[in-house]
Amino acid sequence: MSPTSRPPTKRAHELRSLLNQAAHAYYVLDAPVMEDVIYDRLYRELIDLERADPSLVTEDSPSQRVGGNPAAGFFSVEHRIPLLSLDNAFNLEELSAWHQRLMRVLDPAKDQPLPMVGELKIDGNALALSYADGVLVRAATRGNGSQGEEITANARTIASIPLRLQLEHAPPWLEVRGEAFIPNTTFARINAEREANGDALFANPRNACAGTLRQLDPKVVASRHLDFFAYTLHLPEEWQAEHGDPGKPIQQWASLEWLKAVGFKVNPNAELLPNLNAVETFFSNWDQGRHDLAYATDGVVVKLNDLELQATAGFTQKAPRWAIALKYAAEEAPSQLLRLTCQVGRTGAVTPVAEFKPISLAGTTVSRASLHNANRLVELDLHSGDTIVVRKAGEIIPEVVRVLKELRAPEAQQLELPHTCPECASELVREQGEAATRCVNSSCPAILKGALRHWVSKAAMDVDGFGGKLIEQLVEQGLVSSIAGLYQLDEALLASLDRMGSKSANKLVTALAASKSRPWHRQLYGLGIHNVGDVNAKALTQTFPNAKELTIAACQAPERITEVYGIGSEIAQSLEQWLSTDANQQLLSQLMSLGISLAASEQELAMVANPNNSQLSGASFVLTGTLPSLSRNAAKEMIETAGGKVSSSVSKKTNYLVAGAEAGSKLSKAETLGITVLNEQELLELLAG
Ligand code: NAD
Repeated sequence: MSPTSRPPTKRAHELRSLLNQAAHAYYVLDAPVMEDVIYDRLYRELIDLERADPSLVTEDSPSQRVGGNPAAGFFSVEHRIPLLSLDNAFNLEELSAWHQRLMRVLDPAKDQPLPMVGELKIDGNALALSYADGVLVRAATRGNGSQGEEITANARTIASIPLRLQLEHAPPWLEVRGEAFIPNTTFARINAEREANGDALFANPRNACAGTLRQLDPKVVASRHLDFFAYTLHLPEEWQAEHGDPGKPIQQWASLEWLKAVGFKVNPNAELLPNLNAVETFFSNWDQGRHDLAYATDGVVVKLNDLELQATAGFTQKAPRWAIALKYAAEEAPSQLLRLTCQVGRTGAVTPVAEFKPISLAGTTVSRASLHNANRLVELDLHSGDTIVVRKAGEIIPEVVRVLKELRAPEAQQLELPHTCPECASELVREQGEAATRCVNSSCPAILKGALRHWVSKAAMDVDGFGGKLIEQLVEQGLVSSIAGLYQLDEALLASLDRMGSKSANKLVTALAASKSRPWHRQLYGLGIHNVGDVNAKALTQTFPNAKELTIAACQAPERITEVYGIGSEIAQSLEQWLSTDANQQLLSQLMSLGISLAASEQELAMVANPNNSQLSGASFVLTGTLPSLSRNAAKEMIETAGGKVSSSVSKKTNYLVAGAEAGSKLSKAETLGITVLNEQELLELLAG
């Protein structure tokens, strides 16, 4: 059954049960069973289900509760004012939706921005500190929001919590809230000690902090050097500042100042933000800057500055409406598997691909991830409709890291690779000891499409304008049956294809003709022989100047192949297999008859014979703008073949800047530095010597 058709009642029930177990492990046992980011997203999924159908809300839903119940071993104390949680926003759109809701509730004068305070969301544990006549009398954890654990003796060991406030005329009571936390270096030390003693490690600094605050022996707490940032102040309604004391704040910003003035440590990175744009900048600055902090943060907290407006906005059952936690982009998140598909590559290898409900990860939306091979499928134990955890860090390709089996539907079926090729229906083969399952039908259209895509790719023959869609049409309509067939395509026929026209057809034919002069190593790489990547192709072509000599060596004297630096017997075997196949030799003859040399040019031969004697040996080039006929790759290739180097930025060490149309800042920088600027024609002349 697909997850979209899974009844919401069942899904909500399963989510509730898993989240409740996780919350107990997290809040009560200090031993989380899942990552926070996964908890947050599953929690959000539950909230969305409950919002869509409020009848799904049950009393035991985590949406109805703050934190966990106070642990045994401590006195449980009632909070004077409930200590709630914070609502989360996972991206800027959610931040803006929160802001709009707030504007509706507060209805401020038209075009009047709402000033806010941006604070770091310290990844620690909230404490409520009660002071009587300026003296610390009680410290309590948040607990379930209305009742927390009394941990005063432990809080007294935290050096940044003042035992007496610097107030001349302290009120009979006041309450300060803030975050107790463990700095990163201390956390590393604690875990190293635990490892040495054979104790279980803490999952993260927040977890270590919670465990420490619940120590029954304050000496252990003192040895762990906890720290504390204050962020909320509650003063009695009637309290008036007298001479020498800071005045009663009416804004969050002023509260932070007040807390500093009476002796608290306040996080120095808070900022007063005049509008939503400033909030976004604050967030993106800390998204970058957080890695340099000495303590962990998991986002920023945005609070309405005006305390009176805060009171007007009020609270939901679990959190204030006047604040939101904007979380940093996650690199891991759960999603639901929609289907398993398979891709057949140019070597016939079948790659299983997980397609799942789109999720936002590390700033992009992802909806599919390769599962590499059948082994991975077995390792993951993937079932239909599974809730999977997907990871994507920065530019890294998304991957499925695990399956949340607790959320698996009882009727879910185990997934495996098909037995036949999804493209040509022939039986798939898996050789013993090989991870890959392959389609071995050499006329499988998927293999041909892959081979064509590889041949025209940038790193191979760099044929501009040959997209995947065009290749699919050419293969599916039987217009091309090998890479040689590309060079026999008729311009008029190309022009008649879907989404083509005479202009694009002409461009393609010109690009194909231009590709015929690519260097020998790129031609060899373009053939797509198993194990022969671009580096190996380069090494091989320096010893074997043409396809004929390479064939003789591969088929008659494989030791000559393995003598080439970096080439081992596996590559030699792949070459032997490929080059001794009649159909492939026919392809090579056909390519040669169509004007693809399959041999090194004179210039390439000269370079190999005399690598250090090139007129441009070591000269440094930078390319910028669009050249009239040469692509970037082609120009780079020619420069490198002539012994030059191509780098991406202009510096004093640059010898030549090659500038085409719409050259920008690199050109002005080169001119300022007095570097020789060449156009395409001048470059070609220089290369010709
Ligand atoms: P929260 O931690 O997301 O937000 C509320 C808390 O933020 C406050 O209680 C306070 O401790 C803290 N905070 C830090 N800096 C602050 C600041 N400047 N101003 C105000 N508050 C600040 O919400 P939560 O209710 O504590 O619980 C959710 C958190 O616990 C999530 O991060 C969730 O992932 C984690 N959790 C994890 C699991 C798990 O299994 N991994 C289970 C339950 C909860």
